[in-house]
Amino acid sequence: MLLKGVTPVLDEFQRPLKDLRISVTDRCNFRCTYCMPKEVFGSNFTFLPHHELLTFEELTRTARIFAKLGVTKVRVTGGEPLLRKDLPVLIQMIASIPGIEDIALTTNGSLLTKEYAQSLKNAGLNRVSISLDALNDDIFSRINSVDFPVKRVLEAIDNANAAGFFPIKINMVVKRGINEEEVLKMAEHFRHTPYILRYIEFMDVGNNNGWQMKDVVTANEILQKINAKWPIEPLAKNRDGEVANRFRYLDGAGEIGIIASVTQAFCMDCNRARLSSNGKLYTCLFAHQGNDLRQLLRSEKSDLEISEWIEQVWSGRNDRYSMLRTENTTFSPGDKIEMHHIGG
Ligand code: SAM
Ligand code: SF4
Ligand code: SF4
Repeated sequence: MLLKGVTPVLDEFQRPLKDLRISVTDRCNFRCTYCMPKEVFGSNFTFLPHHELLTFEELTRTARIFAKLGVTKVRVTGGEPLLRKDLPVLIQMIASIPGIEDIALTTNGSLLTKEYAQSLKNAGLNRVSISLDALNDDIFSRINSVDFPVKRVLEAIDNANAAGFFPIKINMVVKRGINEEEVLKMAEHFRHTPYILRYIEFMDVGNNNGWQMKDVVTANEILQKINAKWPIEPLAKNRDGEVANRFRYLDGAGEIGIIASVTQAFCMDCNRARLSSNGKLYTCLFAHQGNDLRQLLRSEKSDLEISEWIEQVWSGRNDRYSMLRTENTTFSPGDKIEMHHIGG
């Protein structure tokens, strides 16, 4: 529910601003080939110095201003968000903001111990998505590039479950020739569990992952594969702006989701603003330019002035990158923001 007296701010296509994604760090302990390929993000790569990251106070102030503009959901992401020290403190600060009803986290799970999951839950985190692209260790290692074992991510998922998070979503990016053969294995593993597996089409985020349309295993291909083995049927969306198409197994084994951002663009439902780790406001995952919010937060500007500035940015928004790329798969606007700066 919107805060009392709030009229949602609309962009050029009448899309309301509802969801804020905050990248709390640009650092990551993985080097997933589709996000931070190790050839580019090697030991010489320079990440942001701490003073360039927004402080918890700045992030909370930002979330409070966004809540007054109609935002009800916040997703904390990265880089790897659990690398940001004292994250539960930030979660608690955001959870206390009137109007913020839902706080979610996307993580690779590598640092999600039982205790940490519980402290995030106690701080007011509502939902967790954990990324896992394969059950086979060789395949997973080839993707994460740091030999991180599958078993530890599966433990993280159980830790989140034990802490009381529900439902927990498992994000699997599917890339042709890399982990296609894991599509059914992952489905089998997560059937009859409380976890919702979501297949994600490999996207052309950033400028370094060598994206080509031929490497995208399409949502239709994935669904056909699953349906042939375990028949499924579509489910209605849970809410406006939901990115995944939902399906349920006819035999009652649970639910899966598909995020078809390449072949079935959902830009016209996109109500998400994104804050990069260095405090730039982006109105699209594929934007090549951000708006410098950090500079405003560190100036003498009042909350009202910053709010008016955000309103101006959002009302001028006409982004629909995926739609344009779906129409023309070679379309590119030039340099884009990197995924590890802006999160998923
Ligand atoms: N490090 C955390 C993680 O991996 O869950 C959070 C940040 S990560 C950038 C957020 C999500 O974006 C992950 O689920 C990841 O798999 C997904 N992602 C990253 N690069 C992608 C790409 N090129 N195509 C599709 N999804 C991608
Ligand atoms: Fe790190 Fe997540 Fe990107 Fe993988 S997808 S490199 S875990 S930020
Ligand atoms: Fe939203 Fe941009 Fe993705 Fe379209 S391409 S759904 S506008 S983030």
